[in-house]
Amino acid sequence: MTDSQKEFMKMAIELAQKGMESGLGGPFGCIIVKDGKIIGKGSNSVLKNNDPTAHAEVVAIRDACKNLGHFQLEGCEVYTSCEPCPMCLGAIFWARPSKVFYACTKEDAADAGFDDDFIYEEIKVNPVDRKIPMLNGMREESQKVFEIWKKKEDKKVY
Ligand SMILES: [Zn+2]
Repeated sequence: MTDSQKEFMKMAIELAQKGMESGLGGPFGCIIVKDGKIIGKGSNSVLKNNDPTAHAEVVAIRDACKNLGHFQLEGCEVYTSCEPCPMCLGAIFWARPSKVFYACTKEDAADAGFDDDFIYEEIKVNPVDRKIPMLNGMREESQKVFEIWKKKEDKKVY
């Protein structure tokens, strides 16, 4: 990492500590940078917002996209104090930044009591057999909406 990249990561780590100390949520922070400028930031805010999806990366992605006025983070770098969980990994792929830097590993997070390893395992399990069963039904009715989407001429593809 370059010196400026280390500075951004230092800020992400500071956000992790500040967020935790002020009761926002767990010890996780994230900074999003474009062209050397911070365009989004977030601390884990699960407790404050009563929002299980308010992980630092998701909070920072929402902030950055709002500031950019766009739903994608093309050309952006994400600095997160810890390796993304499966939800944030998905959010990052949907947001499409160019690079992600992480400090702590998921093993460090597991050691601190944040074990998302089981979610990675659940991805491989047949939906109906997951710890939270996922049951398929009314597929044809729902496929009709996809058919309308496929034919929609003014759609914005993302
Ligand atoms: Zn996460």
